[in-house]
Amino acid sequence: MNLIIFGAPGAGKGTQSAHLIEIYRIPAIATGDMLRAQRRAGTALGDQVKGYMDRGELVPDQLMIDIIKERLQKPDARDGFILDGFPRTVAQARALDEMLTQLGRRIDAVIYLRVSRQVLIDRLSHRYSCRTCEAVYNFTSDQAHSLPRCTVDGGELYQRPDDKPEIVANRIDVFLKHTAPLIDYYNAQHKLENLDGQMLVDDVRGDIARRLAGLRKGAGSR
Ligand code: AMP
Repeated sequence: MNLIIFGAPGAGKGTQSAHLIEIYRIPAIATGDMLRAQRRAGTALGDQVKGYMDRGELVPDQLMIDIIKERLQKPDARDGFILDGFPRTVAQARALDEMLTQLGRRIDAVIYLRVSRQVLIDRLSHRYSCRTCEAVYNFTSDQAHSLPRCTVDGGELYQRPDDKPEIVANRIDVFLKHTAPLIDYYNAQHKLENLDGQMLVDDVRGDIARRLAGLRKGAGSR
């Protein structure tokens, strides 16, 4: 399975791709996580992308395309992958199609998690992430006064600077302007699975599993 999971910031892409990794035993390739890792490591790339990320803007297409091209050729992505956070523009989607064609592969399905602006803002204002493994938690403002450690690796929990309200508003606008056109792009390829991302996490998970199982059956009977 070569999958894309996409939606606005806070739509639940990371949460759902964590389930998909388990089911399909394929890696999740989350470009935001990759860029934050570069920043933590203090690399030149990390320095280059810092400003864009902190302002909630998109990193230039060519930089992201080069990163994904290299990542998709790693051995663990040979039998499939879940892209989370890429593509974010039509130019990135076209480049992805081209690079996959060259590798003799293609995207099987694009899972779009549909969530209203108000719910996104609400979710992100309560979202805390582990500084080291990026696991995501939700806390009310009262609970946030004394945050626990990450249950996965004991790392420190923090609010991503770009999850602050003024940056979140910009990220949602950027999504609507640059990323939402991918709905039409993948619809035209008959690959889009348009889901209600506001259901309970387990219900979204069930819906994704059903749709992907349907695709596999369809592929088997062709
Ligand atoms: P995320 O963790 O997916 O919300 O990504 C955090 C930030 O990383 C985004 O707001 C962008 O600045 C940058 N970023 C991640 N993926 C991409 C991409 N495919 N294209 C451009 N910028 C990206």
